[in-house]
Amino acid sequence: MISVADHVRTWAEIDLDAIRHNIGVVRRRIGSQAEILAVVKADAYGHGVAPVARTLAAEASIFGVANLKEARDVAALGTGRDIMLLSACLPAERRDAVEEKFIVTVSGADEAAAFADCGPARINFKIDTGMGRIGCSADSALEALRAVRQMRNLEVHSISTHLPSADEDFVFTGSQLEKFAAMKNQIREIFPAAKNHALNSAGILNHHVGPTEIVRPGLMLYGASPILSMQKELRPALTWKARVAMVRDVAKGASISYGRTFIAPERMRVAVLALGYADGFPRHVSGNGSAALLHGNHCPILGRVTMDQIVVDVSATPDVRPGDAATLVGNDGEQQITATELAARAGTIAWDIFTGIGQRVQRFHYDSAVN
Ligand SMILES: *Cc1c(COP(=O)(O)O)cnc(C)c1O
Repeated sequence: MISVADHVRTWAEIDLDAIRHNIGVVRRRIGSQAEILAVVKADAYGHGVAPVARTLAAEASIFGVANLKEARDVAALGTGRDIMLLSACLPAERRDAVEEKFIVTVSGADEAAAFADCGPARINFKIDTGMGRIGCSADSALEALRAVRQMRNLEVHSISTHLPSADEDFVFTGSQLEKFAAMKNQIREIFPAAKNHALNSAGILNHHVGPTEIVRPGLMLYGASPILSMQKELRPALTWKARVAMVRDVAKGASISYGRTFIAPERMRVAVLALGYADGFPRHVSGNGSAALLHGNHCPILGRVTMDQIVVDVSATPDVRPGDAATLVGNDGEQQITATELAARAGTIAWDIFTGIGQRVQRFHYDSAVN
C-alpha cells in the first residue's frame, strides 16, 4: 500500500500488479500466439497512461489510443510498441499521424488515398458489421480493398470490425463475427499479411472462439468486467478516495445540500468529504443508496452531490474524524464499491466513471507485487 500526504483532498491509488494480472487473464484466454492491442485511450481510462502502458508493454504488442495527442504521449514512453489511432483522424491530423508512424484507422478507399498522399502509411482497415459508427460498409469492403491494393505507399497492417453489443446481445454479436470471418477469407486473398481483430473486452470474455490474431481489450485491463459473472476473474486496479474535511452533528429536521432533498429524520452525525462532481464523482447518485466507505462501514450519501463537497451519514460510525480517508470506489475492510456499481447508481457505465475522474484527483501508482 501507499501513504498519501494529509493535505491531499481526493486521490486514486492504482495497483500496477492488478493491471498485470488482468492482461494475464486476456493472455490466458487467447493463447500465446495472438497479439494484444491494449487500449490505453483517455489516459488509460483515467488510470494514468505512463505507468499503466509501461506495465502493459510486457504483454501488449500494440497500444490503442483515440487521437494524436494520446498517441504522442504513448510514443514518448519509448516502449517500442506500435500505436494505433482507433478513431477516425481529422483531415488535418493525417500528415502528422503518418509521419509519426502511427497506424491509422481507415473506413474506405478515398480516406486510404488521402493517407497514401501523406507518405508511406500503415493502415487498419475497418469494416462496419453493425457498429454503425466508422468503418466501410460490409457490402463495399472488398471493392474498397481491391482499390487500396492498387495504391502505393500503403501497408495494410490489419482488418478490423467493432462489436456494439458483445455484452448484451449474444446472437447479434455471433452473426457479426460470422460475417467478419467469412470476409476474412476473401480478404486474405487480397492482403495475405493483414491480421484481423474484432474483440473488445466483452468480446474476449463472451465470444472468444478459436484462434484469433489480435484482440483489443480496454475496460477489462483495468479490472472491471463488462460481463458481471466474470468480474471475479479480474482485479480492480483503482481505488478512489477522499478525505473527511469536517464532521458535524445535525438536528432532526435539518436539510442537507442544494434543493433540500434530504431532511434529517432524527439527529444525525454527518461527514463532509472533500470531493464533488468537479472531480468526476457522478452528481446523480443522491438518495439512491450510494455510499462512501469509512472505517469499513457503508456511509450513505445525503442530499445532492455538490461541485466540491459531499455529505455522508456517519451516525453508525461516530468515531470518524476530519482527515480520515473515505473510499468512493474500492475496498475498505469487508466492504467494496466497484466502479460498475457506482455507475449503475448514476445511470451510466464504468467506462464513463473511470474516464470522468477529474484532474483534481491525484493519481498514485504502486505495485502490490513489490511493495
Ligand atoms: C475503446 C475501444 C476498445 C476497448 O473497448 P472495451 O469495451 O473498453 O474493452 C476496443 N476497440 C475499439 C475500436 C475501441 O474504440
